[in-house]
Amino acid sequence: MGYESRTQAIYEINNREPIVVGPPSRLEDIWAADVFSLSKMKQCLPKTVFKSLKKTIQTGEQLDVSVADTVASAMKDWAIARGASYYAHVFYPMTNLTAEKHDGFISTQGDGTAISEFAGKLLVQGEPDGSSFPNGGIRSTFEARGYTAWDVTSPAYLMETDNGVTLCIPTVFVSWTGEALDKKTPLLRSIAAMNKAATRVLKLLGHSDIAPVNSSCGAEQEYFLVDAHFANARPDLLLAGRTLFGKPPAKGQQFDDHYFGAIPERVQVFMQDLEKKMYRLGIPAKTRHNEVAPGQFEIAPYFEAANVASDHQQLTMTLMRQTAKKHGFACLLHEKPFAGINGSGKHVNWSVGNATQGNLLDPGDSPHENAQFLVFCAAVIRGVHKYGPLMRAVIANASNDHRLGANEAPPAIMSVYLGSQLEELFNQIANGSMSDNYSHSGKLEFGVDTLPPLSKDAGDRNRTSPFAFTGNRFEFRAVGSSQSVSGPLIALNTMLADSLSSIGDLLESELGKGADQNTAILTVLKDVMNKHSAVIFGGDGYSDEWHKMAVEERGLLNLPTTADALPTLKEKYVEELFERTGVLSPVELESRYEVYAEQYVLSIEVEAKLVIDMAKTSIYPAAMRHLTDISQTIAVVGDLGIELDKGNVQKVVELTNSMMSKVSKLASAIAKEDFGSSEEHMKYCASTIRPVMDDVRADADALEAEIADDLWPLPTYQEMLFIK
Ligand code: ADP
Ligand code: MG
Repeated sequence: MGYESRTQAIYEINNREPIVVGPPSRLEDIWAADVFSLSKMKQCLPKTVFKSLKKTIQTGEQLDVSVADTVASAMKDWAIARGASYYAHVFYPMTNLTAEKHDGFISTQGDGTAISEFAGKLLVQGEPDGSSFPNGGIRSTFEARGYTAWDVTSPAYLMETDNGVTLCIPTVFVSWTGEALDKKTPLLRSIAAMNKAATRVLKLLGHSDIAPVNSSCGAEQEYFLVDAHFANARPDLLLAGRTLFGKPPAKGQQFDDHYFGAIPERVQVFMQDLEKKMYRLGIPAKTRHNEVAPGQFEIAPYFEAANVASDHQQLTMTLMRQTAKKHGFACLLHEKPFAGINGSGKHVNWSVGNATQGNLLDPGDSPHENAQFLVFCAAVIRGVHKYGPLMRAVIANASNDHRLGANEAPPAIMSVYLGSQLEELFNQIANGSMSDNYSHSGKLEFGVDTLPPLSKDAGDRNRTSPFAFTGNRFEFRAVGSSQSVSGPLIALNTMLADSLSSIGDLLESELGKGADQNTAILTVLKDVMNKHSAVIFGGDGYSDEWHKMAVEERGLLNLPTTADALPTLKEKYVEELFERTGVLSPVELESRYEVYAEQYVLSIEVEAKLVIDMAKTSIYPAAMRHLTDISQTIAVVGDLGIELDKGNVQKVVELTNSMMSKVSKLASAIAKEDFGSSEEHMKYCASTIRPVMDDVRADADALEAEIADDLWPLPTYQEMLFIK
């Protein structure tokens, strides 16, 4: 069976009909065509209603619910004209997935007829059966109900599939008593907290006209494409999203020939189809290219406001999976689908800014902006130093553990890379000298004199840093490819809010003491550098020296696994951070910890069970068949008086016995049930279960190198990575 399905898969792929996606469309014709955008609202809403709604969207002012009926009715008419008969409240539970509840517009009348109806209250609020979403205990303490509520700031859109059109409405998801059960609610709160703190600092810096400050996000998404015929023949890819077995191919990524290579035609057709769908939904897809590993690619949009970017990122992942399926691919978003070659990340490019002061992390070239830049940049540095372990915790899951610290991805130690120019500048600030001995310019007195025009590559590339300044934004490179960007954005916005309010306090007190603005700013920056410069690191983040230095000399934490990182969410200082900023209550934070801990344990248990299954039902039988074939031959040849080398037989027997004894060990390891706490359970998974899984795999992969290829049951790395 195994052999047949592998050859069958290759046969099918060789004979596949190319997918035709139709002629390319003009961007202008399709851009945001499926979005209930501001311009569409302007066309179909009464002026007063439109004005009120626009104000909420652009300034964050509270929604006037009296406009809901009018908006709902216009939305419904637009959707029905486009073929929709259902609407869905879309929300983002504490998984990395997107959830939706679909309802028809249908309303039956007393006389037995039916009409389409969409009342304002249905737009504003929904009640999905919340009980099946992870809630980390919130619902055992509170009411069992969950509510969704319309997020006016993220536009509604039409989701088109072969089977129909649905009006989708982005919503928050909260419990009966208002606790956030999702990722959007805290993201919106973190933006509000950051806005408040940033506005205060901008005021202290002398601004009076200050538009709301928002954070921006541009997320680069890495992924693998594998032909669906192969993926369907691999239970591990189907259930765990990664290969649990597989010998490295003779050719991996050592030639570095994939990265800049031409995109395979079939993949390019997939990409174009995907981008077209994204454009229709107003998602600004911008960059596409091959990635380092064979079969690996990247897509990046132009950046957007964090909340919309986050919704669009979720939608992008959904569209990627759907579109891949249509093209006969499986789209793997797992962080480490294949051992031995690069894994996939999601680089979260993040900045903060507003309409009046612009990008606050842009070094720029005007004096005023530079002071501003230095203050905001210092706030980020302080944030990463104080809350680095939190940044590690929000990207912790079983799959990302395979990347972080695995010598091809950022280390599990959080540090900031500034680039040499900025690093030098901040070191000067630490010493309180700001002028003559700065090598890149004669004189530097920010606030009055112009900073040396910092070239845009002030943040040069340092691929080994988890968090790098890249010219006018920070790039959080340690985020995993399957993860929602909300968690990282919440952490970044919240720690920035905290830093800005601490910096604001000091600035205010210095100014209050009569210091002039330059002196006050220098005092603040110096203070940050004195306390937090330990987190700045421009060297090789993969090196052993850094791991030693970071921990021993700089006091930074190295948290290699989720079991090490996640308990940070239970630390008092983290609880206080979220409570102080109003982003998460202690109960909400604790529920997140419980949900993520449970997800970690569950995903490792699923993988362990799969390892046992596959070893017993695929790999062991293949070894037996191989031994039967070979020993028959050895016997026949032996009858002729010719001795055959039995090395292979011996090896296969040894490896099979060894593998099966480890399988038994794994089976008894996962049978353990009595754990005192989630921490203990996570630690057990990380330090006991995972290593035994790796041991089983080591024997199985060694067997793959010994067993006749035509008896090997699973599509090989070579086939999955190189056959398109
Ligand atoms: P890289 O060179 O790191 O591969 P890309 O061009 O692929 O960079 O992606 C960079 C991402 O950063 C894009 O999504 C881009 O829109 C985004 N970006 C640029 N400026 C900002 C900003 N101010 N805030 C957030 N993201 C930004
Ligand atoms: Mg990048």
